[in-house]
Amino acid sequence: MTAPHTAQILTGPPAAEALLKETAERAARLARTPHLSIVRLGEDPASVSYVAGKDAKAKATGLSSAVHALPAETTQADLLALIGQLNADPQVNGILVQLPLPRHIDEEEVLLALDPDKDVDGFHPVNVGRLWTGHPASVPCTPQGVMYLLRHYGVEVSGKRAVVVGRSNIVGRPMAGLLLGAHATVTVAHSRTRDLGAVTREAELLVVAVGQAHFITPDLVRPGAVVIDVGINRVERAGKKPRLLGDVHPDVAGVASALTPVPGGVGPLTIAQLLANTVAAAERQAVGQPAG
Ligand code: NDP
Repeated sequence: MTAPHTAQILTGPPAAEALLKETAERAARLARTPHLSIVRLGEDPASVSYVAGKDAKAKATGLSSAVHALPAETTQADLLALIGQLNADPQVNGILVQLPLPRHIDEEEVLLALDPDKDVDGFHPVNVGRLWTGHPASVPCTPQGVMYLLRHYGVEVSGKRAVVVGRSNIVGRPMAGLLLGAHATVTVAHSRTRDLGAVTREAELLVVAVGQAHFITPDLVRPGAVVIDVGINRVERAGKKPRLLGDVHPDVAGVASALTPVPGGVGPLTIAQLLANTVAAAERQAVGQPAG
């Protein structure tokens, strides 16, 4: 039996549209159209489709973008040479290298080769340091998008007890840094956390990025909490399109005051935030400031 749906459902598309509109307006105010260079290697269908989506959305938002589609067998040296060229090109404001890269490529070395001021994914350690020291930074798009979604729906963060479940460099850790920067009291839980429920039930704001379908059940949630579900889990079904399930069980809507759905929650914010990061990078470069 499904619990009655009492929680406000915080849908992503209206927030993503608002962010794209703001981003387009900021882009239009710059003297030169912001440019995003996207690099991908090989023909992995998911990567091809993600890159095409980012490229199309960039153009639809009034940015300029170019895809550098390199063969899967591209050498590390050739990839680093391309990144060096893009770093040096004053026309290029943002660079995104689509992950995962083929196995013969050292991802870490590629990441470190990016100019931190053009690293619109925010994965470079310099940007991680800027985030945690309270300096302006490019921050990974998904957690930054969550902050936008919270603002869009008027969710107060300052002073709240926030728990982030998951500590990946892409979601959990930067999410914790952003919430701390927004004056929440932040706990990060992970697979070694003892008595997870005791920790998550403390949360007035619970952000879940675990990667396990319906992992967070109503008994783990404090009544009235705002619950943000970052998880996207593909569940294959014979003869049908795979289903996308979040990390949060839908019955949590019977306990939480607000909940993001999956699909149609956090997901749509990610590309919008990538473009916002690109415009922010272009704005900083235009006034000659470092990465922030
Ligand atoms: P990772 O696999 O990198 O990290 C998962 C985290 O969950 C780890 O820190 C892990 O802990 C923690 N974890 C695993 N099992 C448990 C457990 N039993 N109890 C508590 N914590 C646990 O995943 P990502 O952060 O990259 O992604 C998380 C989810 O978000 C995925 O479903 C992914 O698809 C989705 N996602 C969605 C995006 C979007 O909306 N656009 C973008 C990025 C991701 P430990 O560190 O100890 O191993």
